[in-house]
Amino acid sequence: MPGVDEVLTATGALVREYGAAAAAEAARTVLARLREQITTGALSGDALDLALAGINAALERQLRAAFTPSLRPLINATGVVLHTNLGRAPLPPAAIAQVAEAAAGYANLEYDIASGERGRRDIHAQAYFAKLFAADAPWPCATIVVNNCAAAVMLALNTLAEGGEVIVSRGELVEIGGSFRIPDVMQKSQALLREVGTTNRTRIEDYQRAITDRTRLLLRVHRSNFAIVGFTEQPPLEELVALGKKYSLPVLHDQGNGSLLDLRALGIEGESGVAESLRAGAEIITYSGDKLLGGPQAGIITGRTEWVERMRANPLFRALRVDKLTYATLEATLALYLRGDHNAIPVLRMLRLPADEIRARAEALLAAAKGNHHLRMEVIAGESVVGGGTAPTAALPTFVLALAHRSLSADALAERLRTHEPRVVGRVEDGRLRLDLRTVPPEADTVIARLLLAL
Ligand SMILES: *Cc1c(COP(=O)(O)O)cnc(C)c1O
Repeated sequence: MPGVDEVLTATGALVREYGAAAAAEAARTVLARLREQITTGALSGDALDLALAGINAALERQLRAAFTPSLRPLINATGVVLHTNLGRAPLPPAAIAQVAEAAAGYANLEYDIASGERGRRDIHAQAYFAKLFAADAPWPCATIVVNNCAAAVMLALNTLAEGGEVIVSRGELVEIGGSFRIPDVMQKSQALLREVGTTNRTRIEDYQRAITDRTRLLLRVHRSNFAIVGFTEQPPLEELVALGKKYSLPVLHDQGNGSLLDLRALGIEGESGVAESLRAGAEIITYSGDKLLGGPQAGIITGRTEWVERMRANPLFRALRVDKLTYATLEATLALYLRGDHNAIPVLRMLRLPADEIRARAEALLAAAKGNHHLRMEVIAGESVVGGGTAPTAALPTFVLALAHRSLSADALAERLRTHEPRVVGRVEDGRLRLDLRTVPPEADTVIARLLLAL
C-alpha cells in the first residue's frame, strides 16, 4: 500500500485542481477503503493488483463526488408547474440576464446615483409595482419586498398588530408548505389570534361580534392548498373591508399566489389576483414572488402607503430584507408584465400550454425512444397541477407518456431516471411512470429521449 504523500505526488494535476487539503482527505478515504478490503480478505491476488493500479482513478472519482454541488438542476416531468420541492418558478431568460449582470459587479443597491449619497434599498421594484397597480388601488399605495410570503405575513402582523388582536375565520387557519402555519406565525409576531366562526361557515356578524378596542386587524387568509365544499359560507372580501371601515380597522389579505393576471385567462377558476384584492379594498396584501407571479423567491407586501411606511421602519424589515439578486430578477420579471410579454415568463407559458401541443411532443418522444424494446410506452390523457399551494382544485388537461419497463418496477424506473444525469423526475401512477412534458423545457425532450433509449 502506498502512503498518502506518495499517492498525492503521483497525482499533481488533481492536487492543483482541487487543492492540497481536499486531495489529501480524498486520498486518506480511498486508502482506508482499500486497507479495509484487504484486511477483510475482500481483495487479494489479481484484484488487489488492479485496485492498486486504479488508485488514481479512485481518487479522482472521490474528489469529483466531494465537489459535486448539493443543489443541482433537474428536469421536472411531474406536470406540477409550481413544484415547491423542485424550486417553484423557473426564471424568465430576461431575469437571468439581469441577475448575471447584478451578481458579477457592484450595483446601486442602497445608493442614490443622482446625489452620490446613501440611498434606500426598498425603492427598487417600487416603480414597476406602482405602474402595474396604478388603476387598482383606491388610495396611495406602496410595495416592499422581503424574503418570502411567510416573512411578509410576519412583518405585517408584527408591525400592525403587536400586542393587539387579529380576527381570523376558523376556516382559514391554514398550514402551507409544511411549516407555515397561520397560528404559529401569529404567535411569533406577538399578535393575539382571535378565531371566529366554524371550519365551514363564518359570517360577517361573527367578525363584528369579536371586535373590541384591542382589535388591530381583520385577516383574510387565502385557502391556497385546499378547498372547503358543501355547506359553506364566507363573507366576500368587500364585505370584510366594509366592516373594517366602520370600525377603522384595515383588512390584511394574505393572498399568497401573487397572480398579476386574471387567472381565468389561464383556464384557472376560483382564484383571484392581487389587483382584485386591491380593488376590493384590502389595505395590506401579502403574496409570494415565485408562485403565479413567476419570479424569484420573495414575499411582497403591497398596501396603503402609511402602513407600508410603518413596516419599513420595523427592525424586522432589516432582518427579512432581500439582496440585489432578488431585486434584479424581480424587476426584470415585472418589466415583462408591463410590456404584456407573458409568454416570456416560463410559469405563465407552461400554464397556458395547450394539451394538443403537449400530446404532439409526447408522441414525438415516444417515437424517438421506440428503439428500446425493454420499454412499453403509451401517450394517455392526464391532468397537470398548478402546485405551490395554489388553485388546489384546478386541473389542467394534458397528455403524459406512460412508461413500463419489462424488468423494472415503476418505482425502480422512476428511481433510475432521477438518479442518473440528466436527472428526470416523473410521477408514478397506476403502476406506470408518467412523464408530463408541460413542465419540461421543449429543448429537453431530446435529452429525455436519449435517456430512455439508454435505459
Ligand atoms: C404560499 C403561501 C404562503 C407562504 O409563502 P412562501 O413564499 O412559501 O413563504 C403564505 N400564505 C399563503 C396564502 C400562501 O399561498
